Amino acid sequence: MKKLSDINRDFAQWYQDVLEASEFIDQSPVRGSFVLRPYCYSLWENIQKTLDKKIKETGTENAYFPLLIPESFFKKEAKHVEGFSPELAVVTHAGGKKLDEPLVVRPTSETMIYSMFAKWIKSWRDLPLKINQWANVVRWEMRTRPFLRTTEFLWQEGHTAHLDREEAVIFAKEILELYKNFVQDYLAIPVITGVKSESERFAGADQTYAIECLMQDGKALQMGTSHVLAHSFSKSFDIKFQNKDGQLVSPYCTSWGVTTRLIGGIIMTHGDQKGLVMPPKVAPIQVVIIPIYRKDEEKDLILSKVEQIRNCLEHDGFRVFVDLDDQLTPGAKFFKWEVKGVPVRMEIGPKDLDKNQVVLVNRIEQDKTKKKSFVSIDMVNREVANLLDKIQKDLFEKAKERMQGYQHKAEKLEDFGPELEKNNGLYQVGWCGSPDCEARVKEYKATIRCLLDSKENKTCFACSKSSKTDILVAKAY
Ligand SMILES: [Zn+2]
Repeated sequence: MKKLSDINRDFAQWYQDVLEASEFIDQSPVRGSFVLRPYCYSLWENIQKTLDKKIKETGTENAYFPLLIPESFFKKEAKHVEGFSPELAVVTHAGGKKLDEPLVVRPTSETMIYSMFAKWIKSWRDLPLKINQWANVVRWEMRTRPFLRTTEFLWQEGHTAHLDREEAVIFAKEILELYKNFVQDYLAIPVITGVKSESERFAGADQTYAIECLMQDGKALQMGTSHVLAHSFSKSFDIKFQNKDGQLVSPYCTSWGVTTRLIGGIIMTHGDQKGLVMPPKVAPIQVVIIPIYRKDEEKDLILSKVEQIRNCLEHDGFRVFVDLDDQLTPGAKFFKWEVKGVPVRMEIGPKDLDKNQVVLVNRIEQDKTKKKSFVSIDMVNREVANLLDKIQKDLFEKAKERMQGYQHKAEKLEDFGPELEKNNGLYQVGWCGSPDCEARVKEYKATIRCLLDSKENKTCFACSKSSKTDILVAKAY
């Protein structure tokens, strides 16, 4: 197997290398789209399962809407069509003929879903209406990178309609909080929440809230967004209901989503020189068991014990894999599962069997003396649970510490710009709110990631006029 590029020297190449070495994805013949291999898809399924449950707890129901959308739907909302036009893939021919009206392969489903909301919402009693769909979408990206920017990706998109703007804002924030807690608690990635500047807003939104994370190279990754949509959306799709006073009015809508980009975030936050590192709560495999034996008479004894341990762990809900490959030495297996980032490796050989013990190896522990522990077979489930718990917490703490190291407070663009361009990082500065000042961070390849609630800085980072709010500036994926 090819050695991974140095993670500290060439992070971008390391990212490509690790995806290949871990058998995570494969290239598709179509540029910019990728095959998610079983190990990777299993990670997505674990993410999906937990998130789906949490979304349903907000009173949202799942539904499915068609992939193909009439082109005219996109023209109904001016900002929406302007924002998405360059990325649209359009079907012009089907069934051997030119279509009367071209069909757009959905880049997002607002238009399709709101055309249905117009039929479904008649009275204030029909509100709030909360719908989510798990689907694939297509956006024709010019420069692609697996999970971060791809022509086709998987996601969930939530769409809701509410009585008034206040209720819509409260719900959009509730979802933002849900995303934040999920990413922190399950993916072990620290999150900053904030509002997007007007230029970074979703096409057709009034307000976009986002969760931003910082990758280990000091660049930001937007991991999820929640939008309060402009009222024009429900007006252009003619969604009207009779309010309690008997008047016909339009509801206020929200839309929100997270994508397979979350997987990119996991890789770029936790991965190391040995390969991927999977956070235990969503890891496709939490424990890999490597039986070690030399002679055939040892093999039967070891394997029957291994089977017993596996059943016992699976009974308690752990995700376990036993590596029985006869072609690989134990050393080669250690290497293979380290690259795949399985949090806990369990080794069991004849000597361990004599002592009624197994060896547990912690994937992320750097200290060699602490890396391995010997535990009694009678205590295996409890010890594995403790170790997985510890790894989950340690991953979060490590990421948090690293993020804090990248966070700086600054005042003037001339002072922090060159340092930001050279070494990345996240800078908190003041901003007057003008788009001209916002555009100036591009000189250093950075963008405003989000607006914060705080106002520690008195003057704007670019023009020195008085500041309206603090912002975070960083380079981003
Ligand atoms: Zn300014």
